[in-house]
Order: sequence, then C-alpha cells, then structure tokens
Amino acid sequence: MLNIALFGPPGAGKGTQSEFLTSKYNLYYISTGDLLRKEMAEKTRLGLEAQSIIASGGLVPDEIIVQIIEKTITENPGSNGFLFDGFPRTYIQAYILEGLMIKLHTSLNCLISLNVPEEESVKRLMNRGLTSGRSDDNEQVIRNRLKEYNDKTLPVLQFYKDRGIYVEVDGTSGIEEVHEQITQIIRQELSKSLFNIVLFGYPGSGRGSQGKALARHFGLEYVATGPMLDQEIKLNTETGKKINELYENGQLVPDEIVVQLIEKKLADSKDIKGFIFKGFPRTLVQSYILDGLLKKHGSSISQIIEIEVPTLELISRLDARSKTEGCMPYDNSTARIVKRLQEHETKTVPVIDKYKQLHGVTKVDGLGTFEEVFERISQEIETGFKRLR
Ligand code: AMP
Repeated sequence: MLNIALFGPPGAGKGTQSEFLTSKYNLYYISTGDLLRKEMAEKTRLGLEAQSIIASGGLVPDEIIVQIIEKTITENPGSNGFLFDGFPRTYIQAYILEGLMIKLHTSLNCLISLNVPEEESVKRLMNRGLTSGRSDDNEQVIRNRLKEYNDKTLPVLQFYKDRGIYVEVDGTSGIEEVHEQITQIIRQELSKSLFNIVLFGYPGSGRGSQGKALARHFGLEYVATGPMLDQEIKLNTETGKKINELYENGQLVPDEIVVQLIEKKLADSKDIKGFIFKGFPRTLVQSYILDGLLKKHGSSISQIIEIEVPTLELISRLDARSKTEGCMPYDNSTARIVKRLQEHETKTVPVIDKYKQLHGVTKVDGLGTFEEVFERISQEIETGFKRLR
C-alpha cells in the first residue's frame, strides 16, 4: 500500500494536487474537509455539530474527525493506498492516523508538506472564494483558518520530522512543477516498497522455470510452494510423509502446512525488492491468505501474470517430463497428470477469475522457446514496474 498525507495551509494546492495523485496511483482520496461538507449537506448529527465551527474557520473537534475518518477507511480497506488531504490537522490526529494504519496492517509512507507563505494563501483563497461557493472562503474566516493552522496544525510537522517521513515541496511554483516534485518523492517511496508478482499457469506451462529465471533477473525472491513441500519430502520430515501421501492421490496439501512454510519464507527474506509467487495461491482461501500475509509486511500484490498454453501441449510436456529422471511423484502417471490439470481447472481458475475482476491479469503466450516466453513475460513486468513507479 502507498499511504500519503498532503500537508499545507489552506490554499496550498492540496486539493488540486490530490486529483492527479489519486488517478495516477489509484489511491483512495480522503479529504476530511469534503467529508465534513458532505455531512453538513446531509444535515447529519456530525454535520450539524461541525457547521458553526467550520463557518468561523475553527478546527472541528478530534472526536468528530475520528468518527468520519474511521468509517471511510474501514469501508475501503482493499484500496491500493490512501491519500489524506487536510488530515492530520492536530497532534492528536497524528496519533489517530497511526492507530488507523496499524488497524489496516500498514503505515504512512510520507507526509508531503506544500509550503506557501501566508499572504499567498490569503490571495489564493480570496480568488477561490469568487467561484467556490464556500462560505469559509472570505477574508475574515481565511485569517482565522490560517491562525488555527499556525497554532494547531504546524506542530504536527514535528511528529513526522521525528519519524523521518517528512518531505517538503515549494508550493509557490506552478501546478505542473509542484506535480513533478511530488511525483519524484512518490517514485522514491515506491522504490522502497515491495513489488510482488503472482505467476499463474497450468502445470506444464513453464511457471517454475520462468519464475526462477525471472526472480533472478529482477532481483525478486522466488516463492514456490511445490519445491518447499518437496524439500520436506526429501528431508523425510513428518510433514514430508504426509505430503507424499497426498501427492500419491493427486490431492492438494492442506493450507495449514503451506501457510507455515510461506510465512517463514517471507519472514526470513530481508532486504529484497519483492516476491514472485508460483503455485500459490491455488485456491480462493489461499488468495485471502496471501493478501493477509502480504499485508503483514505492509505490502500487497503488484502484478498478476498468467502463462497460457493449449491443453494438448500441456499434456505432451507433462508426459515428456514423466519420462525424465527428475520426475516428481505427482507427474508419474497419466491419471495423476489429468488429476492435477483438473485441480487447476476447478480450484485455481476461479482464483484467476477473481483477480481478473479485482486487479486485472496479464496474459502471456506460453508457446515458443524458453527465451521467447521469458522475453514476453519480462516485458510485461517492465511495464508493470513503470506503471507503478
Ligand atoms: P478544508 O476543506 O480541508 O479546507 O477544510 C475546511 C474546514 O473543515 C476546516 O477549516 C475545518 O474547520 C474543518 N476540517 C477539515 N478537516 C479537519 C480536520 N482534520 N480537523 C479539524 N477540522 C477539520
């Protein structure tokens, strides 16, 4: 997730910059000012309580802010991230934001402060007042809003300076220039966050060999549940014996076993750019597990790729593999091969369909030489990187 707070005095351009940031990075926009105006328009209890305070240019009590913001955040937990405009505005609200982020197993990436001198703010807001229709865009109220900003909101900066996530931008330059400065900051932020790929395809589509090579090429950690389970079998652990039995019957290994192995793998991976998951998630339940595991690391799925290979070609590849030395127990008879293909069809295809609706899935033609397919997938990943960063 990418969570950003835009900070600055009234009239600094937070709203204007938010528009492009939300669409470019697919963030959920939260403006406490907009939320309060909506409550006022709907004449709700909170709206009525806030009305006179807003009209005078004061700050609405933190108790009201926490209620409107909590509702909005918890109703949209699956978003790519949040963009906060006009929040946090008090030192208490900075703590509130910390708590809300913890609740979502994520954190604020940075607070970007748009610096604008007071007289420039007044000039901009007076201008906006000509068309905004906002009763608080008149000189007397503007002066009061700026006083509130200096007294109560500016101290919030120290909170983020202490945490090392405060960045400032010169808000007096043109809209395009400010936009460019913010993009640079976000690009840097994103380069610190994990890039996670899920690689799908039927057994025999080349997911394994491609996944390993792609992980090496892009500096990502390869997470393949199959080889992790094989390792258990090789070491002849108790888990390994259980797994072997399931393989013999062409069945999937229970989630409890898989989750433990993946959890350990993610926890042991330090200083990495991201993960490539292969063979996981295989079921809808596992897709929820993966979301949870990544969220624990403050992360989420960045890209989903499906390698497509016609069924007859899959059977012929798997059959050829069954005659090699490295043949695994699940590949050594036609009946088992068919069972695995069926498992994919009934359990994993619905997962891919779910992702198609949620994130979009990139399909790649899996026919051709290893290098050709590798090249195709790499290009898609490059595009994914660029789109996100
Ligand atoms: P804005 O649209 O952000 O300029 O907000 C308009 C008015 O709503 C402010 O002058 C405050 O009265 C109130 N307001 C908006 N956000 C907050 C907040 N986070 N804390 C307290 N009051 C707020």
